[in-house]
Amino acid sequence: MDDASPPPVSGRLLDGKALAARIREELQERVRRGLEAGRSRPGLATVLVGDDPASAVYVRNKRRACEQVGLANLHRQLPASTSSEALLDEIAALNADPAVHGILVQLPLPAGLDEAAILEAVDPAKDVDGFHPRNQGCLLQGRPALRPCTPRGILRLLDETGIELRGARAVVVGRSNIVGKPVALMLLERHATVVLCHSRTRDLAAEVGAADVVVAAVGVPQLIRGEWIRPGAVVVDVGINRTGDGRLTGDVDFEAARERASWITPVPGGVGPMTIAMLLQNTLEAAWGAAGEAG
Ligand code: NAD
Repeated sequence: MDDASPPPVSGRLLDGKALAARIREELQERVRRGLEAGRSRPGLATVLVGDDPASAVYVRNKRRACEQVGLANLHRQLPASTSSEALLDEIAALNADPAVHGILVQLPLPAGLDEAAILEAVDPAKDVDGFHPRNQGCLLQGRPALRPCTPRGILRLLDETGIELRGARAVVVGRSNIVGKPVALMLLERHATVVLCHSRTRDLAAEVGAADVVVAAVGVPQLIRGEWIRPGAVVVDVGINRTGDGRLTGDVDFEAARERASWITPVPGGVGPMTIAMLLQNTLEAAWGAAGEAG
């Protein structure tokens, strides 16, 4: 570390809420222009099985955001007792419906339903969550495909800081299929040198301490200590943890990390709103192509 350069006094807030609001406005404008040009309205189908209260809130927020930007929403609410066969039939119907361009099956599914089989049943061209093995395989091979929403939102946030990812050392903590692994691949695609840490990593503090970019996606409050952060690093906190008094907190010790980071996302108001914005963008692109433009 260069002793001559003073560490930043306090990291700038990487405001996902504000960026997501801007993106939603842009999408709304694109939808408006597309419809004016005679295109058919893009539609997102949300599928919620059972009555998990957190899932119900997530789906409600996604549906509301969808309608706000002018996308059609088709919602399927199914009882927790739904059989795999019935759910597969529902997905087959949505796959065949020309008014549906994106399909989102809210996870987790009730016990007894085979999540992998259900996700695989979604038409990859309508898989706006980017969880289908085909789309994940395309990501692995660097081929164009629908990218998962949270990792896509993380990359957008990083771009907002102006950081040069090419050659940067990026450390991702957490190796889930929905966040850790895909974000690591997307950082690699952008030519970062990527280290993927997980529960068996030997010296997490040392790995994080060497990073220009830290992405924490674990689900353990305060796991990433402020003093681990290399001065000037960009910190993206994906974690959503509920504290005893009902507040939300991330995986990073925010106040201490902010003293050292150049940029840091808050929780809430960081990655969460970006996930929804990217879901809308994926739906628009699934309907009208990657440019998402009219004409
Ligand atoms: P997951 O539970 O599937 O995986 C957690 C990962 O963390 C695992 O790969 C595990 O190896 C790793 N891990 C666990 N303990 C560790 C430790 N002590 N040290 C290092 N690594 C450790 O997680 P997920 O589904 O990727 O979610 C992670 C967090 O992100 C959760 O808090 C979740 O709520 C949140 N999340 C937020 C959004 C969003 O939009 N903001 C989206 C998805 C997930």
